[in-house]
Amino acid sequence: MSKGPTPAMRQFYDMKAQYPGCVLFFQMGDFYETFGEDAELVARELDITLTSRGRTMEGERMPLAGVPIHAGEAYIARLVKKGYRVAVCDQVEDPKKAKGVVKRDVVRVITPGTVIDSAMLHTAGQSYLMGLSVSKKGKRLGLAFLDITTGEFFITSCRSEDAADLTSAVDRHMPSECVVPEDSPGWIPRILKERGVVVTSYDPYHFTRDASINLLCSQFSVASLEGFGCAGMEEGVCAAGGCLAYAKETQKSELSHIRTISAMVPSGTMVLDSITLRNLELVRGIREGSDSTLLAVLDRTRTAMGGRQLRSDIIAPLIDKAGIEERLDALEYLFNEPMQRTSLRESLHRFSDIERIAGRISYGNAGPRDLVTLRDSLVRIPVIRGACIPRGDTPLPDALASCIEGMSTHDTIVSLIASALTDEPPVLVKTGGVIRDGYDPRLDELRSISHSGKDWIAGFQQEERERTGIKSLKIAYNKVFGYYIEVTKANLHLVPPDYIRKQTMSNGERYTLPVLQEMEAKISNAEEHLTAMEAEIFSEIITALNEHVSALQETARNIGRIDVFASLAEVAALYGYVRPIIEDSGRLLISDGRHPVVERSLESGFVPNDAELDTGGTQILIITGANMAGKSTYMREVALICIMAQMGCFVPADQAVIGITDRIFTRVGAFDDLASGQSTFMVEMIELANILNNVTDRSLVILDEIGRGTSTLDGYSIARAVLEYLHGRGKSGPRTLFATHFHEIVEVESDLKRAKNYHFAVRETGSDVIFLRKLIPGATDRSYGIHVARLAGVPKPVSARAEDILSIERTRVMSTERGKTPRYTQMLLIDAPGGVKETTDPVLIELRNLDPDSMTPREALAKLYELQKKAQ
Ligand code: ADP
Ligand code: MG
Repeated sequence: MSKGPTPAMRQFYDMKAQYPGCVLFFQMGDFYETFGEDAELVARELDITLTSRGRTMEGERMPLAGVPIHAGEAYIARLVKKGYRVAVCDQVEDPKKAKGVVKRDVVRVITPGTVIDSAMLHTAGQSYLMGLSVSKKGKRLGLAFLDITTGEFFITSCRSEDAADLTSAVDRHMPSECVVPEDSPGWIPRILKERGVVVTSYDPYHFTRDASINLLCSQFSVASLEGFGCAGMEEGVCAAGGCLAYAKETQKSELSHIRTISAMVPSGTMVLDSITLRNLELVRGIREGSDSTLLAVLDRTRTAMGGRQLRSDIIAPLIDKAGIEERLDALEYLFNEPMQRTSLRESLHRFSDIERIAGRISYGNAGPRDLVTLRDSLVRIPVIRGACIPRGDTPLPDALASCIEGMSTHDTIVSLIASALTDEPPVLVKTGGVIRDGYDPRLDELRSISHSGKDWIAGFQQEERERTGIKSLKIAYNKVFGYYIEVTKANLHLVPPDYIRKQTMSNGERYTLPVLQEMEAKISNAEEHLTAMEAEIFSEIITALNEHVSALQETARNIGRIDVFASLAEVAALYGYVRPIIEDSGRLLISDGRHPVVERSLESGFVPNDAELDTGGTQILIITGANMAGKSTYMREVALICIMAQMGCFVPADQAVIGITDRIFTRVGAFDDLASGQSTFMVEMIELANILNNVTDRSLVILDEIGRGTSTLDGYSIARAVLEYLHGRGKSGPRTLFATHFHEIVEVESDLKRAKNYHFAVRETGSDVIFLRKLIPGATDRSYGIHVARLAGVPKPVSARAEDILSIERTRVMSTERGKTPRYTQMLLIDAPGGVKETTDPVLIELRNLDPDSMTPREALAKLYELQKKAQ
């Protein structure tokens, strides 16, 4: 015996070399085996036993770890979820027919961004593969996002000098994997990895302009990409090229369901950077696993398509009035027609994810059950359309009408599936029984051969019983021996001489006869053909359905849209939301607004509050108030109401006038960002710089206790300077909500004419404080921090001592004030350029040393004359 690797192992080494960076799942019969380092990794990550077999190239024992094929998908899913890539190497010929070693080939590479099997997709949301490319001059990044399960594909771009742009895009779309050119600058993969994205380096050739345009044009069968609105987005096109090339390579498929690409012009929707997305908890809670998000409150969608659409809408509110109004009209219609809304929502109930099924059809891995599910959903489309027919006089608003129009009943598909497939087919085609009798004559003929064979066996049994006189004689079948005649011990003396003995059992003997053997060969031949024939017919059906994939996708999109309208109308009715008035103005008026998420979690009532802001009027609200008074909640509520209004949703308020906002910035002081290893204060300042550099008059800025991460004096100075900057020198500025614990800041109200002080009211009763949660004009100067400490259970001696220190400090501050020493020297340094200099002017020195309180009016007047004389 040779000590070198076996032929199968040589095959393994070949494959392994072709797919570097992948864990290779190598089919050996009913198992996927992994070898060497892969086996060690798999054993460790999946907690399965490591064994060894054969020899490595060096002649050592080869580590081995295997999983059964039928469970392979689940194991692969777990590996991919951990960020590994898996190459699946299958036997591609029938081992029985193989001459020598069985032919094997990698049939798919599964990576985090290219997972397609439903079992592996754990989230209901999109699952994007991202592509990235750097523009020629290095100034911009092109970004492409591809969901291979649905075929959704779009590009966008961002600046490259500010990493925050990239982070925002990543946080918004949450890709699982990003393909980047090998030669991209190091900070890019670093940032991506920090956000939990698996980074794959790929040949830069695929990201070149020519290669990308060629690939995309041939994918979409067009001569130029102009029709997709991608003109002038060269870096985006390059990103898309790399992304698609990678997807096709890993999937080993044409991915023909990817038929179009769109350009997401960054200015088409409201800009929400990643910090804002996180602070406002739009689609993801700040704490891991928390579902106190806006999405959770608004999501009453009935379909997977609707769920994905809603999520996309929340993170990309519109900024054009017409677009917003169109959605609001649709919502209002369904809001006003509760009966119709209910029947529409019922018609959507359990409507399956036909978008993903369409994806699997064109990908070629749709199974019989997928098609039956598709059929069962499609036949309900007339019901959905019917549910939308107006019952009263109000005509259907445009947005709804166009959803209905864009939704086909797909009669061809329905009748094809209905006539071709059995009612309840098995999961796998090879199990058989997928294709209906009467659909294909070739199949019917094979089936009748197989059936008549079985009939023949039954008849043969009867004949043999009569011939031998053995009443209990039985013809049975098993996999090893095929058909045999079974005779019990008691009847052995009746066995005729022509019976050929096959096997001896404890209770009898098994025999065969040449005629039986002949028939057995016929039957098994027919059955083998049958399986192959069913598979062939099934794949013909899939090919026929392929023609309809884009139409299915279109229908799916419209169902998603209509589902979102119905869901939002339902939520609006349930929670008492109202239609906002949308304006192209700088106003923001909310009366009795509520925080949509906090409101849901409170058992006792939420206290509504007003907001009144205007770019050119009350531009800045400076909000003070005790700890826990409700400042943060209030400010987030205003931001959420703007987002809801602009995504075309009703809002939690009695009335709202929303002047369209182009961007929302929110920053919370000293937010711990330990994960990225920057000091909290540094983080806060980077975030601040980002606001100040990007804010426009149409933005909404929310600053929650910024300056908390540094010394009081620094913090105060920065906070004040920021306020002055946002107020600006012109006639208008961004609408700003500014909560602060620096009570001294309320003084700026007199300097900045568009700033106004507000505070949250509290009622003090003896040593107790009651939060009224009501925002009222004017400032407050107490933070009740010690009160909150007491509420939180800080030991009594500590809180009592804190009270003492507080009162001592208060007296000290007040006495220094009386001594005319400026309370905030640093503040004066900002106010008066040059600062307070030591003076040598005798008049000033004398003036400074006067104590008017100790003088009589007459003395004071005399001193005044004297000083005036000296000054002259
Ligand atoms: P602050 O930022 O002033 O310290 P928060 O906004 O964090 O206070 O609010 C503290 C708590 O008070 C919140 O967790 C919420 O439960 C409650 N709260 C805030 N605003 C309201 C309100 N308008 N009505 C009822 N409860 C509120
Ligand atoms: Mg707060």
